[in-house]
Amino acid sequence: MRAFVFDTPRSLRTAVDRATENTRYLAGGTTLVDLMKLEVMAPEQVLDINRLPLKGIRYDRDGLFLGALERMSDVAAHPLLRGSYRVISQALELSASPQLRNMASMGGNLLQRTRCGYFRDTTMPCNKREPGSGCPALDGENRGHAILGTSTSCAATHPSDVAVALVALDAQLHVYGPGGQRTTALQDFYRLPGDTPHLENRLRPRELITAITVPPLAKATRSGYLKIRDRQSYEFALTSAAVALRIQGNTIHEARIAVGGVGTRPWRLPAVESALIGKPASEATYEAAAAQSTEEARPLAHNEFKVELLRRTLVRALITVGGAR
Ligand SMILES: Cc1cc2nc3c(=O)[nH]c(=O)nc-3n(C[C@H](O)[C@H](O)[C@H](O)COP(=O)(O)OP(=O)(O)OC[C@H]3O[C@@H](n4cnc5c(N)ncnc54)[C@H](O)[C@@H]3O)c2cc1C
Ligand code: SF4
Repeated sequence: MRAFVFDTPRSLRTAVDRATENTRYLAGGTTLVDLMKLEVMAPEQVLDINRLPLKGIRYDRDGLFLGALERMSDVAAHPLLRGSYRVISQALELSASPQLRNMASMGGNLLQRTRCGYFRDTTMPCNKREPGSGCPALDGENRGHAILGTSTSCAATHPSDVAVALVALDAQLHVYGPGGQRTTALQDFYRLPGDTPHLENRLRPRELITAITVPPLAKATRSGYLKIRDRQSYEFALTSAAVALRIQGNTIHEARIAVGGVGTRPWRLPAVESALIGKPASEATYEAAAAQSTEEARPLAHNEFKVELLRRTLVRALITVGGAR
């Protein structure tokens, strides 16, 4: 690990004023410290933000509010989340391990870096770590890589589970920086890799995430998160699906679907949503809609299995959440 300046600001203003372009904010440290030890990230300054007023879990007529420093375990266990926003709670509980979830924050989770092995190995080239150096994953070990949103520069998956659930529910991200407070849709926050995979999101220099909000869900909306992985705990997704459905009688009136483990960013599926709306909640409907999830898939040599796995993951998630009569 390289030497760095460390400080613990006590107000948002001070944090932003002290930050430089090469500062990193420290929340739970479960990603940042790892990557600093590996020298994948080498900030000149680390600002511990744990004394900033960035906590709170509440629900009012504007919807759900989650402070950026809320721990993943506290959000997952909160009664509000276990009820109406089950998809968020489940996505969190299927992430990492209990010890990590006790430490890790919501803001940090949304800004974690890819788990592509080449990215974490500084003896290898990687366009995301070092722009222009190349992408060994495209012709190398790519079993875990993306099939949606890839480019000739990078095919790394976005690793966060809860980001998938939040994108499905149209979450908004609230950030604070030198220009004051601003809000952006989480879906627009993440960038596709294109030929600049090192630019992963639209956070500007010195800005920090203060909170996440989620619009209210219509009554009778049911939701859930299904994650398929190589082992049953402590593992990132091969495929995952976040599903929220409002069904009246036996007709689907509203559908929100996003998938993970397959995209270079959390992947919303508007065509699948449209194919569900107005249809009966049946296995045939789910199968027909899920077929559209893979139309744009571009698998690599070792991850073609994800195409079929994604379709099946989606059908199973839809049956679990919506039932099939
Ligand atoms: C072994 C292991 C398994 C894991 N498995 C999963 C999994 O299955 N699913 C999953 O989703 N995640 C998984 N994770 C990732 C884990 O959830 C993240 O490490 C964690 O959520 C990061 O949160 P943190 O508060 O510790 O972030 P930190 O490590 O403190 O920060 C991460 C990044 O975010 C920045 N940052 C943090 N907070 C803010 C803020 N408010 N504003 C601006 N920048 C900020 C930091 O500067 C840093 O760049 C796993 C991690 C490990 C180590
Ligand atoms: S897939 Fe992306 S992160 Fe992985 S080696 Fe290629 S450029 Fe780097």
